[in-house]
Amino acid sequence: MKLLAATRSAGKQREIQRILSPSGFEIVFPGDVGLWETAAEAALELGESFEANARRKSEYFVSLSRMPTIADDSGLEVLALGGAPGVRSKRWAGASGTPLEVDAANNAELVRRLTGAGESRRLARCRCVLVFLPSPGAVPTVSEGDCSGRILQEPRGAAGFGYDPFFFSDELGKTFGEATDEEKDSVSHRGRALRALAISLLTACR
Ligand code: IMP
Repeated sequence: MKLLAATRSAGKQREIQRILSPSGFEIVFPGDVGLWETAAEAALELGESFEANARRKSEYFVSLSRMPTIADDSGLEVLALGGAPGVRSKRWAGASGTPLEVDAANNAELVRRLTGAGESRRLARCRCVLVFLPSPGAVPTVSEGDCSGRILQEPRGAAGFGYDPFFFSDELGKTFGEATDEEKDSVSHRGRALRALAISLLTACR
């Protein structure tokens, strides 16, 4: 099945490709089908929940592309910060620039806000909500994944993207920045949500 994955994040694109392709899905991204970034897209992510944002992104891209579409909205929730940055994870620090610069500013903000926070206050989880729409107006399929851990005071490793070097996965016993692709995918919020969605789609296609 050919799917449009409605994200422009290179980090998300790599993960979606490597998790879904082995199950026989052909994944394309907006740029591959001539959908260039517009100002309207930023407004799709102003909702109050991951699911609301993922729904809006999937509706927007399925109507433009007329292709079966999945949209991912995801982020980090930190106990000591009352669940922040949450749905604001992408632009939390308000920085502009390259994706690497935006990630660096967000991570600096995370360090700053957690200064002096003890271990128990550093508990965190990563969450991912995926919404699949086969066609405009169709009934959506929603799948979710999460993974728990804590936020370190210092980064470890340089793999992945976003908050990965600071997110210590309980299950892996290392940060996502230190993990191999296979290790991260096996426990990550996105890996879990994508595998659940793949099972639903493959079962429905039988
Ligand atoms: P979205 O595009 O609005 O869903 O933004 C997601 C943001 O959450 C990203 O820009 C990252 O800052 C963060 N994020 C989501 N998933 C991950 C991950 O797997 N690792 C690290 N950061 C992530």
